[in-house]
Amino acid sequence: MKTKMLLVEDENSLAIVLKTFFEKQNFNVEVEKDGENALFQAESLKPDIILLDWMLPNLSGIEICRQIRTTKGIKKTPIIFLTAKGEEEDKLRGLDTGADDYVTKPFSQMELLARINALLRRSKQSNLDDELFYKNTITMNLKTLRVKREGKNVKLNPKEFDLLRLFMENPGKVFSRDQLLDKIWGNINVEPRTVDVHIRRLRKNININKTKDLIRTVRSSGYSLDIVK
Ligand code: CA
Repeated sequence: MKTKMLLVEDENSLAIVLKTFFEKQNFNVEVEKDGENALFQAESLKPDIILLDWMLPNLSGIEICRQIRTTKGIKKTPIIFLTAKGEEEDKLRGLDTGADDYVTKPFSQMELLARINALLRRSKQSNLDDELFYKNTITMNLKTLRVKREGKNVKLNPKEFDLLRLFMENPGKVFSRDQLLDKIWGNINVEPRTVDVHIRRLRKNININKTKDLIRTVRSSGYSLDIVK
């Protein structure tokens, strides 16, 4: 099945280039040049992905994004901003209104494609399995963000949650501190011992009532979620 894309871009030449490129990549591309119409288009097409220009006639990209995020039926559609503005503040503002990602013009089509595919994978994943299970002892709901150990609610901070999620998605796999920093903290400058601190707290939080410690410390290598019974 083809992926439905709504491309909201008033610059004709760019719209044509992108439409041609993505149709070759097996997308169904609908182009909209007017900001106000974009919202109606999104509602009637229910696209899998929306590429949204920043500056548009009648309604700005940022306003369209904000409205999509509050419109039933399309509020979870992945949105990527196409912005000519290089200012960090604008990018952050875009992400603040609920966009999933952005690219700055001029961008490479291949890079945009890679980002779109990553977003589509993520949104498919979150629709498919909302719940992660680990050996009948931990459950994690990815929609409600609730974690339970032996049926009891466990409170985790966001980083602890992300760590546990990564472990649960890769049971037994050993992650080095650097890998964890990269996957959980991204590119931000954080010291490796931050990982240890968070792992310690995660351990404490999920090992309730003297339940077995499930996180294995692998000396000089890193951490993993134990698969040995
Ligand atoms: Ca524009």
